[in-house]
Amino acid sequence: MSQRTLVILKPDAVKRGLVGEIIGRIERKAGWTIPAMELRTLDQETLEAHYGEHKGKVFYEPLMGFMASGPAVVLVVEGERAIEGVRQLAGPTDPIAAAPGSIRGDFGTIVRENLIHASDSEESAERELKLFFPAL
Ligand code: ADP
Ligand code: MG
Repeated sequence: MSQRTLVILKPDAVKRGLVGEIIGRIERKAGWTIPAMELRTLDQETLEAHYGEHKGKVFYEPLMGFMASGPAVVLVVEGERAIEGVRQLAGPTDPIAAAPGSIRGDFGTIVRENLIHASDSEESAERELKLFFPAL
């Protein structure tokens, strides 16, 4: 089942020069493609729509500040079960709990600065793709 998922390489990934490393892992998945990709500094309005489910949580405001702190890379990944697959490559939210071999497990530092966002379901993928790439 081919799917599209929305991926963000967060500002920490860009600042630390990890974009090539992370994109490389995605590209090495046989059959997956990247139909759209852009370096973009995320504005408050987009971030509020994107992370609306977390509004009111203690980490929400610092997360907003971090996500707007520099350019991010937003991309679409397409391929066989890409939604589950990119989440698998990323590893769990907390880098300390993430296994070596996963992106967050290999390079993540603290929970907030965990390098990568990936849509977590078909519904979120549809919503997030529309939000970040309305023309696609
Ligand atoms: P995921 O990105 O794995 O889907 P969530 O949707 O739960 O994780 O959270 C969104 C983002 O908010 C996380 O990727 C992380 O950057 C940040 N975050 C989540 N939980 C915490 C926390 N307890 N403390 C700080 N930041 C957090
Ligand atoms: Mg999430």
